[in-house]
Amino acid sequence: MLPKDNKPYIGRFAPSPTGSLHFGSLIAATASYLCAKSKEGKWLLRIEDVDQFRVKKDSIYQILQTLEQYGYQWDDAILYQSQRTQAYDAALNDLGSLVYPCSCTRKFLRKQMPEGTYGYVYPSFCREKMTNPDAAQFAIRLRTHDEPIGFTDYLQGDYQQAVALEVGDFILKRSDQLFSYQLAVVVDDEYQQITEVVRGSDLLDNTPRQCYLQHCLNYQQPQYLHFPTAVTPDGKKLSKQNHSPEVSDTEKRQTILDTLHFLGQAPPALDQFSCLNDVWVWAIQYWDRDKIPAQMTLPEHYPNCL
Ligand code: GLU
Repeated sequence: MLPKDNKPYIGRFAPSPTGSLHFGSLIAATASYLCAKSKEGKWLLRIEDVDQFRVKKDSIYQILQTLEQYGYQWDDAILYQSQRTQAYDAALNDLGSLVYPCSCTRKFLRKQMPEGTYGYVYPSFCREKMTNPDAAQFAIRLRTHDEPIGFTDYLQGDYQQAVALEVGDFILKRSDQLFSYQLAVVVDDEYQQITEVVRGSDLLDNTPRQCYLQHCLNYQQPQYLHFPTAVTPDGKKLSKQNHSPEVSDTEKRQTILDTLHFLGQAPPALDQFSCLNDVWVWAIQYWDRDKIPAQMTLPEHYPNCL
């Protein structure tokens, strides 16, 4: 099926290799996978290893192994952000005078900003002129404006944010020369021609920044669907966990069925499926994004995924 403008559907799953996948990541994988596959679209895999300091040894291998074992099938070559430096540099260049160098260190900001405000809105100290013109290292920030940036999310509805007032001029390249998630994700969504971004609502308040960047770079804006993030009954987020390669086929089938339950689908019971592939065949055929609930909490009886 083709979206309104007749472009074939292209979705993506973009894990950060900061550990193995956890149940919440599998929910993101399942949701984005089924949105793409149910529309006969492509599902691309992107490894968001842009922040080399946070990459955990072996986690890329573990992530790929887990996805393969659970039967997700990605299309095309995997995109690694660590290999995209030139593209990010080119985008920064295209932004011209919309960006500026910033020498403010954390220490400096902590000292200059009123108690309790550090870490929220950047006060644009370097906007007109670097506060420390002799700084050996500086970050690159994007100028923002007070106008609210809005978009309509498929599940969360209209969402808007006055980026300048709520975040401030944000960093595109850090002083240690690493590119920020915001720049990398926008450049890559454009490069991979993503038509819809399906991800957890913990990233909802990042999206106006990304829409603003897309606008500044003259990129197409994809559709967005932010599903509620899975939390434990006491409101905690899930942590990374190991999916051992020794997990039986029955357990894998059950885990995928669990992701479907959390996404509001009503799959038949485990014993109705003789293999993992049958679960996927059912899921692709009966996927209904309108059934994804507004909130998602793990039930008490599901300790295995915590
Ligand atoms: N890399 C992010 C994560 O692992 C996802 C970012 C995105 O989907 O835009 O949570």
